[in-house]
Amino acid sequence: MAVNSFSNVATQYPKRAASSPHVSKRTATSMSHFQTLETPAFRPTCELCREAGGVLVFQSPEWRVIRAEDAAFPAFYRVVWRAHVAEWSDLSLAGQAALMGAVGAVERVLREALAPTKINLASLGNVVPHLHWHVIARFDWDSHFPAPVWGVPAREVAPAPVTRLRTDLAELDARVARAVAALAPGA
Ligand SMILES: [Zn+2]
Repeated sequence: MAVNSFSNVATQYPKRAASSPHVSKRTATSMSHFQTLETPAFRPTCELCREAGGVLVFQSPEWRVIRAEDAAFPAFYRVVWRAHVAEWSDLSLAGQAALMGAVGAVERVLREALAPTKINLASLGNVVPHLHWHVIARFDWDSHFPAPVWGVPAREVAPAPVTRLRTDLAELDARVARAVAALAPGA
C-alpha cells in the first residue's frame, strides 16, 4: 500500500485538517467556554496555554477536556491540566488524582458508548510540553492498530472512521461532558 500518501495526521496536532460534519451538530450542552489561565506560569508561546487545543468539551477550574479533531481517530480526547506544567510529578498528589479522575471518566464513557477494541492512554508532551493525557478509543480496523496512533499506518480505512462509530460525536461529547462535570471542583 502507499504508506507515504497516507499522512500520519496523528502527529500534527493540535490543528487537524479534517473536521467531521458531526461537529456542527454538537449541542450546547457539550460546550464550555475556553478561558486562558493567567497565572505566572502562563506561556504565550505554548499552544495549550493559549488555545483550547481542540473541540472544547468541558472546562473545570483545574483541567479541561478537548476532542482532537482527528479524522483517523474520531474518538480521541485529551485531558489537559490548565496551568502550564510540563511533567506529571509537577502536580501534587491531589492534582494527579483530579486529573486521573477525569481521564478515567472519559475512558469509561468511550468504553460504554463505543465498545472499542482497546483504550489507549498516553502522556508524552514531546511536541507540546504542557501536561495532558491522551484518551483514545482504538479499534482493530483503525489505520494504525495495533500500533500506537503516532506510528506507521497499517491500512487505509474506508468509509470514514467516524461513520463506523456506534455513537454520534455530538452525543459522545455530551456524554463525556456530563461524566467529567460531575468530577469538577465545585460540581
Ligand atoms: Zn502551556
